[in-house]
Amino acid sequence: VRATSEGEPLRAYAPSMGQIFLRRFQLVTQFRSALESGQVSVHYQPKVALPSRQVIGAEALVRWKHPEFGRVDPDEFVPAVEATGLVDVLTDFVMDKALERVSRWIDRGLRMSIAVNLSVRTLADEEFPNRVAAALTKHQVPPELLTFELTESGVMADPERALPVLRRLHTMGVVLAVDDFGTGYSSLAYLRQLPVDEVKIDKSFVLGMGTDLGDMAVVRSIVELGHSLSLTVVAEGVEDDAARDQLVSMGCDVAQGYLISRPLSEERFEAWLRARTVQVRGARDETVLTL
Ligand code: C2E
Ligand code: MG
Ligand code: MG
Ligand code: MG
Repeated sequence: VRATSEGEPLRAYAPSMGQIFLRRFQLVTQFRSALESGQVSVHYQPKVALPSRQVIGAEALVRWKHPEFGRVDPDEFVPAVEATGLVDVLTDFVMDKALERVSRWIDRGLRMSIAVNLSVRTLADEEFPNRVAAALTKHQVPPELLTFELTESGVMADPERALPVLRRLHTMGVVLAVDDFGTGYSSLAYLRQLPVDEVKIDKSFVLGMGTDLGDMAVVRSIVELGHSLSLTVVAEGVEDDAARDQLVSMGCDVAQGYLISRPLSEERFEAWLRARTVQVRGARDETVLTL
């Protein structure tokens, strides 16, 4: 337990179990009205190709600005919402916003993909692929510009139910990525059984790479494993030039992290993008983005 400047142990301010339970209860019961009243929004974090640094897309990350609690982390409210039937409402909300972004980019001649995180519950919903197809049609977005990120634990929670859903999404042409790879039950055998196209190295390994040889070895072996399975390898949590350079030397395909940008609101992301847009001479619709 660390001490504050006054010498009080920090634990004195920790909420009680009752307070945690109450807050969780409030988050769950208020979620739907929060969506409707505009407290919930989607932020975007760019993904860039290595070594070119071309912006190839973004990950959609949900945000909740609660009137009483302030900024509530998705790591807190997503699991709470997940435990109820409301997670479909969340997924559909984020997917709709995200695909609307992609369709705007297409209008401007930009071909960039968007990644949406899926929760365990959604993977068990056999109606979900139909809703995805409807959303793609609504926004006139080709399926290959939509990526779903799923965690290993999400798939492993109920593989018999998740696999048919994943196969249908994959057959539709949607890109599938395993998120936070390396933290769960990851194994070569397991990865091979999934219809996935992309693997995202968990940020804990990427963050530790500069100081921990073990983390470095994990990152290197995931890049090699991914490539041997013909997967695109993405590193999340890229915070400095040293990490980026190391990933380039390992042959990692895509980088995401604070070095490139923090997740940004829709408006700020568009401004960020505009500042990096280059119109290639002679090409009518083609636009190249660089850092
Ligand atoms: P994730 O999908 O692994 O997302 C990456 C998290 O790492 C994000 O946290 C992002 O802000 C953070 N991050 C990005 N770059 C860096 C970096 O360079 N350094 C560090 N230290 N962190 C970085 P965030 O936005 O708080 O999201 C946390 C998790 O919540 C996500 O992890 C994802 O699992 C979940 N989540 C977010 N949005 C959604 C959603 O719409 N639906 C579902 N089901 N889950 C979501
Ligand atoms: Mg993710
Ligand atoms: Mg992740
Ligand atoms: Mg995560």
